[in-house]
Amino acid sequence: MKLTRYDIDQSICRRCGSCQRVCPRGAVLETDDRSLVIDPKRCDRCGRCRDACKLRAIAKRTGLFA
Ligand code: SF4
Ligand code: SF4
Repeated sequence: MKLTRYDIDQSICRRCGSCQRVCPRGAVLETDDRSLVIDPKRCDRCGRCRDACKLRAIAKRTGLFA
């Protein structure tokens, strides 16, 4: 269980790849339909991707996640 996670809002994301380039953990992955998603197992919650996204498509969420 995790208390925080970073998620990409697919309705805002324009797939520019900036978040993927700055992620030190390789946690921003491309899906089959070329959407970018954050793998919570790889993510260490450093926040660099959120800072890198000019569209503010990445949000930090707090809660209990499986
Ligand atoms: S930086 Fe923002 S807009 Fe660009 S791919 Fe990442 S989430 Fe999408
Ligand atoms: S919070 Fe850090 S480790 Fe997690 S996806 Fe963003 S840049 Fe990568």
